[in-house]
Amino acid sequence: MDKSIKIGFIGLGAMGKPMAVNLLKEGYRVFAFDINSKNVDEIVTLGAVGCSNGGAVALVANVIFTSLPNAGIVETVMVEKEGVFDNCREGTIIIDMSSVSPSSTLKMAGIAEPMGIKYVDAPVSGGTKGAEAGTLTIMVGADEAVFEKIKPILEVIGGDIYHVGPTGTGDAVKIVNNLMLGCNMATLAEALILGVKCGLKVETMQEIISKSSGRSYVMDAKLEKFIMKDDFEGGFAMDLQHKDLGLALEAGKENNVPLPMTALATQIFESGRASGLGREDMSAIIKVWEKITNVRVVGGE
Ligand code: NAD
Repeated sequence: MDKSIKIGFIGLGAMGKPMAVNLLKEGYRVFAFDINSKNVDEIVTLGAVGCSNGGAVALVANVIFTSLPNAGIVETVMVEKEGVFDNCREGTIIIDMSSVSPSSTLKMAGIAEPMGIKYVDAPVSGGTKGAEAGTLTIMVGADEAVFEKIKPILEVIGGDIYHVGPTGTGDAVKIVNNLMLGCNMATLAEALILGVKCGLKVETMQEIISKSSGRSYVMDAKLEKFIMKDDFEGGFAMDLQHKDLGLALEAGKENNVPLPMTALATQIFESGRASGLGREDMSAIIKVWEKITNVRVVGGE
């Protein structure tokens, strides 16, 4: 471990906090900030140094992680007066792990570059469980030299770490992945409803389709664990899935690519959010169809 590295961590939520904790456990010095002071207090008890704002983190840290809700907040944290960019020194590396659009990342990188600051996009997949276990998939957009420099740090918080290409490409692959995740989930939900309406048991569909061509990651990850148990606590929040589909639509617009499936899936998850399901696992979308069709999709029925 390079002892000269001082890690900054801005955004200590469901994902950021366990990542920062793993860096502390590895022996890194961590300088942390979150607008929710409770989150800062918690990590200070584990050995981090609490900072009063993003700019204060930038004054001390030479590698700064951000894990924030959306691109608007990331941009504000970077460019606000006395924010991160105002207080960064030349040579600082900023690693944004939030799910944001490639265009936002490129905008931030465009400001950082002339200041001698390296701006890296490193969105993740694997959820809070992966963040806690240090097994996240990390998709990195960065120069080769910067990637090699930060790889040992990323290995503390991730299992599979991919150098996708230059800045912005990490965000791009994350968006493409989550577009597929969202569309596949929307498809699984309506397919299960049809199956039950046609007289099939959920277990029958699970057994046969998991060995047939309709199988998907969402079927493996969501059917038994959430849908069949009728328990949608934890998991990947519908609000986040909806946000990621929005990022895909934004990228589609910017690149002149029609995304009809994504647009439809976005509206389906919008219905889920309107029904008050935004904080439940994304698979709770099945409840919207259950209500409309008066069909129940649970195990053991
Ligand atoms: P979260 O809402 O739990 O955490 C975000 C944190 O940022 C909160 O603690 C909040 O107080 C803090 N924050 C907000 N504005 C701030 C500001 N101006 N300055 C400092 N701190 C601020 O969200 P999360 O689930 O940890 O997700 C973080 C990012 O990771 C998001 O972009 C999300 O899309 C992405 N992501 C989440 C998951 C997941 O399963 N939760 C999985 C993959 C990617």
